[in-house]
Amino acid sequence: MRDDAKNRMTDRYAVIGNPIEQSKSPIIHSAFARATGQNLEYAKLLGPLDGFADAVRAFRGAGGRGMNVTTPFKLEAFELADERTERAQLAGAVNSLKLEAGRILADNFDGIGLVNDIQRNLGISLAGKRVLMLGAGGAARGALQPFLAQKPAELVLVNRTVEKAKALAEQFKSHGPLIGCGYGDLRRGRHFDLVVNATSASLRGELPPLEFEVCSEAGLAYELAYGKGLTPFLRMARDAGAPRLADGVGMLVEQAAEAFLWWRGVRPDTSAVVKQLTVPLS
Ligand code: NDP
Repeated sequence: MRDDAKNRMTDRYAVIGNPIEQSKSPIIHSAFARATGQNLEYAKLLGPLDGFADAVRAFRGAGGRGMNVTTPFKLEAFELADERTERAQLAGAVNSLKLEAGRILADNFDGIGLVNDIQRNLGISLAGKRVLMLGAGGAARGALQPFLAQKPAELVLVNRTVEKAKALAEQFKSHGPLIGCGYGDLRRGRHFDLVVNATSASLRGELPPLEFEVCSEAGLAYELAYGKGLTPFLRMARDAGAPRLADGVGMLVEQAAEAFLWWRGVRPDTSAVVKQLTVPLS
């Protein structure tokens, strides 16, 4: 087949962010496409900081069918969309776009990706569990509704800027037992079954100001950052006795699988890609 004919038949997708060099999305989606026999190509796009909307429209004009959106454009993508799912509305940010001729559809798969990684890949049900989530930024916010939908016994959201955690608890109170507080409000002797670090502290090698004992009964300590090995949070959880540690590589791959399903109508198997991208936690 001639190259121009082949190009016309190949659907185009991309991840847009700034910076973008570090993104693993092309590796993930290319592997999914190979495994499911889908004819698509997936690129990295460096989005101009003052020209996100134009870059998305230009990609659509050149035949682009869908995009993943990463830092710092998740809020702008939310604004740009013509239609957003309820999940995206609640998250207040989107990480995936479907580009149609007359409209741009948006969804946010980060939260469901995290839940699927914990429940399907790690085999830990959230139902009835006491969950502590650290951080009240975009990732935590996107995870609240998907977590509460699994009916944990309680979900405590703790944040350095206490007002943000309290505001989210108020906003999501009709979805389940969510409490927002500051680190100093966590009583000594308070324990959780699962502790999730959704702060960005690990990206700078920092540790949220969490009492060591809080993790001592946690069956799982989960770090959203990925590819960094044993972060200060995971090290602390291990030292406190948490028997299982995980980082966010599974979340990354699971959210990609949800986007792939949304775009292509096929759910790829994720296990081989998770294995390929996993950096040992040591
Ligand atoms: P945001 O910038 O939106 O939020 C950052 C949060 O971290 C805020 O709540 C902030 O608190 C808190 N924080 C930062 N530094 C510290 C510190 N030293 N001590 C305590 N709290 C701190 O980031 P995101 O929500 O977008 O990302 C959070 C993490 O999730 C990052 O590590 C990111 O890489 C990861 N992530 C992983 C994904 C995956 O697929 N695995 C997907 C998306 C994100 P305050 O409000 O007080 O400033």
